[in-house]
Amino acid sequence: MFFRIIVVFVKKNLNIVTLMRYAIISDIHSNLEALRTALDHIGTLDVDEIVCLGDIVGYGPNPNECIELVTMHCSKTIKGNHDQAAVDLMQTVYMNRLAREAAMWTNKQLIPGAKDFLAHLPSKASIENAVLVHASPFEPEEWHYIMTGLDADIAFDYFDTPVCFIGHTHRAGEFVSQINGNHGNEKRIINVGSIGQPRDKDPKLSFGIFDTGTLAYENVRISYPIQKTVDKMHTAGLPSELAERLFYGL
Ligand code: ZN
Repeated sequence: MFFRIIVVFVKKNLNIVTLMRYAIISDIHSNLEALRTALDHIGTLDVDEIVCLGDIVGYGPNPNECIELVTMHCSKTIKGNHDQAAVDLMQTVYMNRLAREAAMWTNKQLIPGAKDFLAHLPSKASIENAVLVHASPFEPEEWHYIMTGLDADIAFDYFDTPVCFIGHTHRAGEFVSQINGNHGNEKRIINVGSIGQPRDKDPKLSFGIFDTGTLAYENVRISYPIQKTVDKMHTAGLPSELAERLFYGL
């Protein structure tokens, strides 16, 4: 712990690239209960910084509050397709009915400062040994889904670091490249899963912990008060299908 504090101090003051431990969160989707639970838990872990891979808003009932927490806690934040749609309703033509309804509801709720923040988020960023995108390193703003090994094979050509972190599908998992069977050159695409709307049949919120020195990665899953979020969604008049799915992780 003491050593890590010195390393971070040296890094911040001398701009030397060195060991860092990151919490990587994604797809919060205006679920304040899930985000607060995740941040509280991250506070108990040995983590230097938190980064966010986008989709702060969309689907859930607390867009402004989630944006405020992200701006307070995350050192880097990437734009997601729902962040973009919430400030540019033209983008909702690419969405299904439920996502579109939620985007239009979100657009009405957002305070000017929050809209401005979402509109100016970058589509890509990097940390030591890893690149950060919302959907795919291949055409990041086209929001390609990486669901299969075939999808991942295309994406491996579009980053040069050992690891690329993604969200977007709301399914935690990892793809490893096979470059001539040589594991010395392998790259990894790691999906950290979703804080606010997991879809891998596990309703627990999901995020990742990454060590830029050892490249070690760990997926963390924890419970949060789902009923509270669901009650707020009903009160807000958001589509009930979007609320019920949270209980099942779908
Ligand atoms: Zn999402």
